[in-house]
Amino acid sequence: MDQQVFDGVAGRYWHRLDDGRVQCDLCPRYCKLHEGQRGLCFVRARQSDQIVLTTYGRSSGFCIDPIEKKPLNHFLPGTPVLSFGTAGCNLTCKFCQNWDISKARASDRLQDLASPEAIAEAAVRSGCRSVAFTYNDPVIFLEYAVDVAQACRARGLKTVAVSAGYICAEPRVEFFRHMDAANIDLKGFTEDFYKDLCSAKLAPVLGTLEYLKHSTEVWFEITTLLIPGENDSPAEIEALSRWVMERLGPDVPLHFTAFHPDWKMLDKPRTPPATLRMARRIAEEAGLRYVFTGNIHDPAGQSTYCHGCGGVLIGRNWYELMDWNLSPDGRCRACGTACAGMFEGKPGRWGARRQAITVPSLAASA
Ligand code: SF4
Repeated sequence: MDQQVFDGVAGRYWHRLDDGRVQCDLCPRYCKLHEGQRGLCFVRARQSDQIVLTTYGRSSGFCIDPIEKKPLNHFLPGTPVLSFGTAGCNLTCKFCQNWDISKARASDRLQDLASPEAIAEAAVRSGCRSVAFTYNDPVIFLEYAVDVAQACRARGLKTVAVSAGYICAEPRVEFFRHMDAANIDLKGFTEDFYKDLCSAKLAPVLGTLEYLKHSTEVWFEITTLLIPGENDSPAEIEALSRWVMERLGPDVPLHFTAFHPDWKMLDKPRTPPATLRMARRIAEEAGLRYVFTGNIHDPAGQSTYCHGCGGVLIGRNWYELMDWNLSPDGRCRACGTACAGMFEGKPGRWGARRQAITVPSLAASA
C-alpha cells in the first residue's frame, strides 16, 4: 500500500506501542497510528515512525477582533486581539459553530503560511495587545502555538487560547505555560452530553479547569453554549454553576451563549433569550460574581457589576464598552471593591470592529 507523505514538523507527546503502532499522547483520544495514518484531529499524523504536526505555520487566515469576542470580558477590555486558527479539531461536536475550519482538511482550507515572528510582528504593527489561538482548538497545533506564543511574549504581547480544554496532563503544562489568558468551552455538564454529541469525555475538561485555577496564573473564563433540549435544563445549569463555585471559586467569569443551528445539528431551534437569562440567574444564585449572556442583545446581561455595591463596573453592548467605572488598579470607583481580572489603567478603544489582515507569508519570503 502506498504510504501518504505529510509535510509536517516533529510533534511532541507520543510513544511507541509493543504492537508496532505509535500512540499520540497529546489529547485523551490517544490515537494509535500505523505509518501513514492521521489521528482523529486530522492534523497530527504518523510519518517516518514518528508523530508530525501537518499544519505548522499554516493558518486559516488572520483577523483583528475585539477581545470581548473570544469571549474574554475581564482581560484587557476594549483591546484588539490578532486572531487565527489552523484546521482540524480533536472533538467532533455535532453542533460545531466553526465547522468550516474545524472540519477542514489542511489542504483545502489553509491559505496563509506564516512564521511565528511574522505573526507577532503583524500584531505589534496593527496595535494589538494580544494574539489569540482560536477558531479551531489550538491544543492540536501545540508546537506551532507555543512558538507563536514565545515570539509574542518576546515583543510584549499577551497570548490567548480559546480551547475546549481536551488535553492530557503533561502537554497541558507546556501549553498553558505559554498562555496569559484562556477561554475554555465547558460544553455541557454530563458525561452523556460529551459522549453523545462530542464523542469525548467531560472529566478531562474539568481537570483542565481545576489545573488552570490551582496550578497556573492564566486568567481564564468559561463559555457554555446552551442548546435547547440538550444541556439547558435548570438542573444541569445549577449543577455546572455549583461545580464552578465550589471548585474554581466565585471570580471565574461564566458566559452562557446562544446556539444557532449548524453543522450536523440543524433540527434544534436557536436558544431563546429567556433561557440565557434564566441560566445567568441560576449561576448568580449559586454565588458566581461575573455571569454573562452572549450572542443575544442583552446589555444588562453582558455588563460587569461590582459584587460589593452592585454598581455597573463595565457596561457592554455586545462587544462594545459603554461604561467604565474601574479605577486604574481594577477597583470599583464607588466602593473600592476589587474586580477580578487583568486590567490596565484605561480600557482599549477598539470597539466592535472585526478586520481581516494579511500576515507576510512564508511562501512569499522564501
Ligand atoms: S491530538 Fe489528534 S492525533 Fe493526538 S490523540 Fe488527539 S485527536 Fe488523536
